[in-house]
Amino acid sequence: MSTAVVLDAFITEIRHIFGERLLANEPLARHTTFRIGGPAEWFLAAETSEELAQAVRLAKAHQIPFFILGGGSNILVADAGVPGLVIAVRCRQVEVRSEGLVYAEAGAALAGLARTAIRAGLGGLEWAVSVPGTVGGAVIGNAGAHGGCMADSLETAILLAPDGEVVRRPVDGLDYRYRHSRLKAQSGDEAYIVLAAEFRLSPAPVAELEARAERFLAQRRATQPTEASVGSIFKNPPGDYAGRLIEAAGLKGHRVGQAQISPVHANFIVNLGGATAAEVWNLIQLARETVRQRFGVYLEWEILPVGEIAPHPTLSP
Ligand SMILES: Cc1cc2nc3c(=O)[nH]c(=O)nc-3n(C[C@H](O)[C@H](O)[C@H](O)COP(=O)(O)OP(=O)(O)OC[C@H]3O[C@@H](n4cnc5c(N)ncnc54)[C@H](O)[C@@H]3O)c2cc1C
Repeated sequence: MSTAVVLDAFITEIRHIFGERLLANEPLARHTTFRIGGPAEWFLAAETSEELAQAVRLAKAHQIPFFILGGGSNILVADAGVPGLVIAVRCRQVEVRSEGLVYAEAGAALAGLARTAIRAGLGGLEWAVSVPGTVGGAVIGNAGAHGGCMADSLETAILLAPDGEVVRRPVDGLDYRYRHSRLKAQSGDEAYIVLAAEFRLSPAPVAELEARAERFLAQRRATQPTEASVGSIFKNPPGDYAGRLIEAAGLKGHRVGQAQISPVHANFIVNLGGATAAEVWNLIQLARETVRQRFGVYLEWEILPVGEIAPHPTLSP
């Protein structure tokens, strides 16, 4: 069967289920915190975890490439866009259950989940009030801040397995490390999709939790830029900070087009307005190469490139 025929069959079936909610050529810049990214060939917002599972199963059955989009706060999307189907995770239910157990669907905002827990007098997620993105993205990447991380409070991840079954996986089996999990390492046909997660939290006075959250937020405001970004570009190398190394290499404030290494925090690249993925790419390569030459340290990407990112042809890094 030709590619066009396969695609037609897929579009017919997915339209039959989701109707006009299936969008063509949706600009992904609208869905990333960087405000960067070309169009998704096809785009669907899954409003429930059942819809999320259904869309993934359908794409797989038709062998259509797909990408799962959370809050778009840890990705650099190519200017040329993304082929196949982008499934935006918009299932956002959060429930405080008994004995400190909190259930959240994958599309719930992480910061919103943290606020709900605080209001319920449950501690453990206060660090997350300042972290953008969804529960699903945070479970995949073991998001963390201020000394805390997902793995500390996560009890069970509820996942769509590669074979299409829904499975429950306790945190212990997920190989959580600094900004890493077994789920993050598995891609393509082996990838698991986060449908929901359960957290085990500890009772604490609401005022105490609120005060801690406010302290974390104030710390953020004082140390991080406010322009569009995707947070830290590189992981911190063992025993050091990527931002310190980039600053020591003299690159703080350096610009390529409308992308700039933030003058506030050198591990952030900010979009000054209309920056392209190619410009960000050139800046990332420049930072990485300069740090490698000056200090012999190889910086590892924390963010994920999505689609084919071509270097900017005229602006040299
Ligand atoms: C201003 C700013 C500050 C930040 N500060 C921090 C910080 O302090 N600590 C930190 O850890 N991060 C930080 N980040 C980065 C980002 O917020 C986190 O990495 C976040 O957890 C990403 O979640 P997301 O939903 O936006 O994921 P996305 O960017 O949408 O996706 C990231 C990856 O996860 C996958 N994914 C998303 N949802 C699912 C799902 N349901 N199932 C399977 N795969 C999925 C995507 O396919 C992609 O591979 C910051 C970002 C910004 C913009």
